[in-house]
Parts: sequence; structure tokens; C-alpha cells
Amino acid sequence: MSRCRVTFPGSPADAAAALLRIAEQGGRPLVIGGGTLAVPWLSQGLVAPTDVVDLGRLATDRIEESAETVRIGAMVSYQQLIESRVVAARLPLLQRMARGITGGIQIRNQATLGGAACAARPYSDAPGVLVALQVTMAVEGSTGRRNVPAQDFFVGPERPALSATEVLVDMAVPGSVLDRPSGYYKLKLGESSWPVVTAACLLPRGDDQQGCNLVLGGVGDVPLVVPVPQADPGELDRARVSRAVAERVEALPPDRLWGDVRADRDYRRRVAGEVAYRAVRRAVESREGAR
Ligand SMILES: Cc1cc2nc3c(=O)[nH]c(=O)nc-3n(C[C@H](O)[C@H](O)[C@H](O)COP(=O)(O)OP(=O)(O)OC[C@H]3O[C@@H](n4cnc5c(N)ncnc54)[C@H](O)[C@@H]3O)c2cc1C
Repeated sequence: MSRCRVTFPGSPADAAAALLRIAEQGGRPLVIGGGTLAVPWLSQGLVAPTDVVDLGRLATDRIEESAETVRIGAMVSYQQLIESRVVAARLPLLQRMARGITGGIQIRNQATLGGAACAARPYSDAPGVLVALQVTMAVEGSTGRRNVPAQDFFVGPERPALSATEVLVDMAVPGSVLDRPSGYYKLKLGESSWPVVTAACLLPRGDDQQGCNLVLGGVGDVPLVVPVPQADPGELDRARVSRAVAERVEALPPDRLWGDVRADRDYRRRVAGEVAYRAVRRAVESREGAR
């Protein structure tokens, strides 16, 4: 039986160096964040790495607020997002998303936001929310650090914009989206089901001139940004939102629509307008509640 080496890097740069070394030796690395997906892959024999690079000792499990941004480490768990006062006050969309993750307290404690992003599953909650929040993903590789807008990070199903020698370090939420009224809605088959279609909506703050950010998950193979006509949020009725969603979805090549065992492409396409409208309604209600 072949042996698998396990490395516990102490910094993102060490992790990138370890991945480079493994690549140069022709190895097959497996990066582990919280391990809620990766460890079952190992135990089920779905992956056979020569090396495991365990990120559990990186100090990337912090939420840091500055005047300009809120920076969320890749190893921050859903439970940390739920309990964070900064997230509750400034990023209620992210908190609402984290609260809706199934699997109970064990999963919410172990599963990381960075792991959900790197898994890049079209049927997952996090990708659409990260795109709606216009997050910048900081990625560490053997040649240094680079920043990738969330919208470009999700390249395809289970394909994040990461090379084999890179790790995700953190996600920076820009000041322009903090404190904005938001709504999140997900359609799922049952209480413990993964999402079928999700919608995340951010409205402008007060009277500022920003538009509405509306992003759909589970309809395309990556999160879909839906251009919403400039309107007073109170005028974003079901017909307007559904029309904007239909135009966006129709513009997508058919092979970029997502379908899986939970729901086929056609079903997702048909429910997308209503799911989006419910997220917009929730955002409008949160705006009115804050007045
Ligand atoms: C019981 C259960 C219920 C769930 N319910 C939901 C749900 O309701 N909604 C939902 O959206 N999701 C759900 N999930 C999925 C959950 O969100 C993910 O399992 C979790 O977020 C993945 O994070 P992790 O740290 O455990 O990743 P890991 O399992 O450690 O890794 C996942 C992938 O990301 C890579 N990776 C991890 N971290 C990094 C990093 N920093 N840099 C580079 N690559 C990295 C790994 O190599 C692997 O490919 C559920 C999972 C379980 C097990």
C-alpha cells in the first residue's frame, strides 16, 4: 500500500511552497480546509493523494474589520459567521446564508467559507453570495499573492480559479457593499436538502446611486449576475424581476445551464424568477424595517 504524507503548513506561503514541491516531485496533493468534503472523499476512495496539505494550522480563521473592508479568512467556519458581531451588523446577507446551512452544529463548526468557495459547487449557497458581495479573493501561490474578483473565481462547476500550487487565503468584502439592505432566498427540496436555486440581493443604501446586486445560484454552472433595471427598490415588482431574470438566463448558452439529481435545467430555469423576486422582497422588507 502506498503511503500518503501529511503536511501542516504554518502560513499560506508555506502551503504554496509545499504544493510546489509536491508538483515538482510529480505527486498528487489534496488540500484540506475543514475537511467536510475532502475527508469523505478520502475515506470513500474517491481521491488517492500522495500528499495531504492540511490548512488547519494556518491563522486564516479570523474576521477582521477595517474602515475600508471586512476581511474573512478562508478557514472561517459558518458558525463563526453566525456568531460574529461584525458580520451580524455589517453583512447580514452572509450571516443569513450561514444560518441556512444544513448538517447541524458539527458541520457549521467544521465547514469553512473558503472550502465552500474552493469546492465551487453550482448547487452550493456560498458562491452566489460571495459574488453578490463583490468579494475579492486573495490567493497565495509559489510566486506570491494575487487578488481575484469573486465573479472570476468561479470558472465552472467545481472549477475555482486556483492552480494546483495555490491556496485561498481570505475574502475581502468592500466597503461599498457593507451595511446595505439585503435579502436571501433559497429553494430546496426538504429541510436537510442542499439548495436547488438561490438568490442573493443587495439594495442601495438610503438614497445613494448604487444599483441593486442580484445574483442567482444553481441556475447556471457559475453564479449568474442579473442586471436589474435602475428603479426605486419599491418598484421592483414580480414582473420586472422575472423579466430581468428571464433575459439573463436566455442569454446563457444551453450548455452553461445547471441541472443535477435534485432538479433538471428546465425546472431551475422556470423557478429562477420567483426565487429572485423573493430575495428582492426580503431585501426591500429589511430596508423598510431599518427606517
Ligand atoms: C452534512 C453536510 C451538509 C451541508 N449542507 C450544505 C448546505 O446546506 N448548503 C451548502 O451550500 N453547502 C452545504 N454543505 C457543504 C459545505 O458548505 C462544505 O462541505 C464546506 O463548506 C466545505 O468546506 P471545508 O472547509 O470542509 O472544505 P474541505 O472539505 O476541506 O475542502 C473542499 C474543497 O476545497 C479545497 N479547499 C478547501 N480549503 C481550501 C483553501 N483554503 N485553498 C484551496 N483549496 C481549498 C479542498 O482541496 C477541496 O477540494 C454541507 C456539507 C455537509 C457535509
